Amino acid sequence: MLCAALLAMCAGATEAARPATIELRSRSGTLGSLAQVALEEGGMYVSAERLAALLKGSWRVKGSRGTLTVGPRSASFDQNQSRITLLGAPVTLQAPPRVIASGWLLPDDFLAKGLAKLAPGVTVLRVAAAAAAPKREPRPPRPTVAFEDLRLRSYPSFTRIVIEAAGAVPYTVEADRSGIRLRLARLALPAPQAQEIDDGLVSALRLEPENGDAVLRVTLAGTVGQVKDFVLQDPYRVVLDIHRPKEPAGPDGGRPAIQPLRLIVLDAGHGGHDPGAIGPSGLQEKEVVLDVTRRVARMAEDGLGVKVVLTRSTDVFVPLRERTNFANKQRADLFVSIHANAHPRAVSEGVETYFLSSEASDTEARQVAAIENGAVQLETPASRQKTDLLKSILWDLAQSEFQQESSFLAETVQDSMTQSLRLVNRGVKQAGFYVLGGAAMPAILVEIGFLTNPKEERKLATPEYREAAARAIYAGLTEYKRRYDQRLRTAQAVPARPERTLPR
Ligand SMILES: [Zn+2]
Repeated sequence: MLCAALLAMCAGATEAARPATIELRSRSGTLGSLAQVALEEGGMYVSAERLAALLKGSWRVKGSRGTLTVGPRSASFDQNQSRITLLGAPVTLQAPPRVIASGWLLPDDFLAKGLAKLAPGVTVLRVAAAAAAPKREPRPPRPTVAFEDLRLRSYPSFTRIVIEAAGAVPYTVEADRSGIRLRLARLALPAPQAQEIDDGLVSALRLEPENGDAVLRVTLAGTVGQVKDFVLQDPYRVVLDIHRPKEPAGPDGGRPAIQPLRLIVLDAGHGGHDPGAIGPSGLQEKEVVLDVTRRVARMAEDGLGVKVVLTRSTDVFVPLRERTNFANKQRADLFVSIHANAHPRAVSEGVETYFLSSEASDTEARQVAAIENGAVQLETPASRQKTDLLKSILWDLAQSEFQQESSFLAETVQDSMTQSLRLVNRGVKQAGFYVLGGAAMPAILVEIGFLTNPKEERKLATPEYREAAARAIYAGLTEYKRRYDQRLRTAQAVPARPERTLPR
């Protein structure tokens, strides 16, 4: 039934279209009344015989034509035709007459369009709705929309909460001092979800079913600034950004002070039950990259005068999103993820550096991203694995504003590696890496060689090559910092250019 889809509109329409009793009057008084008849397929009708009787006329049927005669005047109706003949002239009604078991029914707009001519002096009065309202069907429940995922990312200046659903979900947001309530209409939640956050802005999240809807309760850790809500499409996501209160203006009025580089987060890929790529002789990526990462950390801390923090310093599993969440909480200035590559073809060789993009630069880049993103499946329930993780998870994240700076960092590190490692230069590429997606700072992913290539696996097994790879990454970071400091000095020397902001 149409009403199922257009319930709100139909509820009103039913009110207006309820059959009424129609009273006919002549100049000398009432002629009597007849009932409107509502047909299931729509439209209102009156009985032809009853109308003829009230008008003291006649109703005659011959074949498929019925004729209503009042005195010398007549109107002819044909089955299945809206056009009638009234006093010899055509008149079109809103519908053809209907023939039911009890006789002919005429569309009730005939009373407005034809009655005055057929029976001059007769007027029509719609008395009231018929005694009994038509039986109301119980309201069908609104269809539900399946819940897909609840995600949270902590950025230096805001916390982003994302609720993904299988389709559009109308929602309302209420905020007060203690928290935020987001009501998602008809979102079907299999079970309540709760997360402890404690990122200094949000202390906890709770998403639970309530009266057929789902309600997200966000408990705040303290005062917050602006709260923004918006929708992202394909897949459908409701996004809630909770901002920190505005920090006091910088010394030059409103603009945040430009920061020198002070903290780098180094991320050794994989770990724990996630070995990453495995070479033909059994060398595991998680072991190689942890060693290289620790070497880079020592060099950078000694030589760059910056603080270096690792997302893992031992053989433990760290979920991908924790890695950038950690960097965000630390307010890191750079994020460098270190990996070793894998390829079904053993001859694949060389080094490559990635930064995050929604578009992979080529098919191979997409494949590398898919392999590295595979770790997400080690941390998510089976139900989630069949969905397209790249599509659904990455693009609610806030990396795009750092894309240019990330690409610059990637080029600098890649140049350094290919110059000193004497490996094939596979170049700087873009692809959708989950581990980079949540970083609120320039972020790159370095692939230091192919573990699946026997020649490169032998190299990656040696302390000498690991030291060289670490030194190459360190040299790239050194060059990046040199140029960054140069830009910093330029920016500080010319304070009257507010449009120029350096990444922090
Ligand atoms: Zn990896």
